[in-house]
Amino acid sequence: MLIILLGPPGAGKGTQAEMIVQNHNLVYISTGDILRKAVREETELGRKAREYMDQGQLVPDNLVVEIVRDRLGEPDCANGSLLDGFPRTVDQAVFLEQVLPDINMQIDRVLLIDVDEEELIERLTGRRVCSDCGANYHLKYKAPKVRNVCDQCGGDLYQRDDDSLSTVKERLEVYKKQTEPLVEFYNKKELLSPIDGNQDIDGVYDQIKTILGDL
Ligand code: ADP
Ligand code: AMP
Repeated sequence: MLIILLGPPGAGKGTQAEMIVQNHNLVYISTGDILRKAVREETELGRKAREYMDQGQLVPDNLVVEIVRDRLGEPDCANGSLLDGFPRTVDQAVFLEQVLPDINMQIDRVLLIDVDEEELIERLTGRRVCSDCGANYHLKYKAPKVRNVCDQCGGDLYQRDDDSLSTVKERLEVYKKQTEPLVEFYNKKELLSPIDGNQDIDGVYDQIKTILGDL
């Protein structure tokens, strides 16, 4: 099974992914997480990607598609994967279509989580992430029990560099220009399931459960 999570930054893709992979036994693949790890470890990929990420721009397609091709080809992905943050351009989507038959996979569903822009800004600027395990929090909507400490592992919470207000605005523009065309792309292929992401975390997950239950 291959599920794609589509939607603007801050829509709640990572938050929902945590619940989806637990309940559906899927391997979670987030290109954002993979790129941030590469930046932290100062690999060649990380050095190339950093300047784009800091500015809220997309990392060039040629760098990202290689990551995804390699990851999807690993044995643990054979039973099913959840892609978060990929594809993000039509060229990436076309690339994915070309590589999937080679690894005996096909896209089962594209879940589009849509959220109003004002709410996206609120969610992104209030987001906090665990520096150890990567768990996701929000100052208001999903606050940790102890301020700045991860409930799950006790790690320190931090704010992502690209969650500053100015970079958030740039990322939302980039989404509209470069990623939103994928809505039509997957709609035409009858793979798209729109989800109202303005609801609370459990309300959004209930909608996803219904859609995935039918697959
Ligand atoms: P994305 O992966 O799409 O960029 P995240 O899952 O990281 O988005 O969510 C962005 C922020 O919004 C996080 O701080 C998260 O805790 C919070 N959040 C996610 N879903 C909801 C929701 N339905 N209602 C309120 N806050 C949410
Ligand atoms: P995310 O964690 O999904 O919000 O992604 C954070 C940043 O990583 C984005 O703003 C981009 O700079 C980069 N990135 C993640 N996925 C992709 C992708 N599929 N294509 C290009 N850049 C990406």
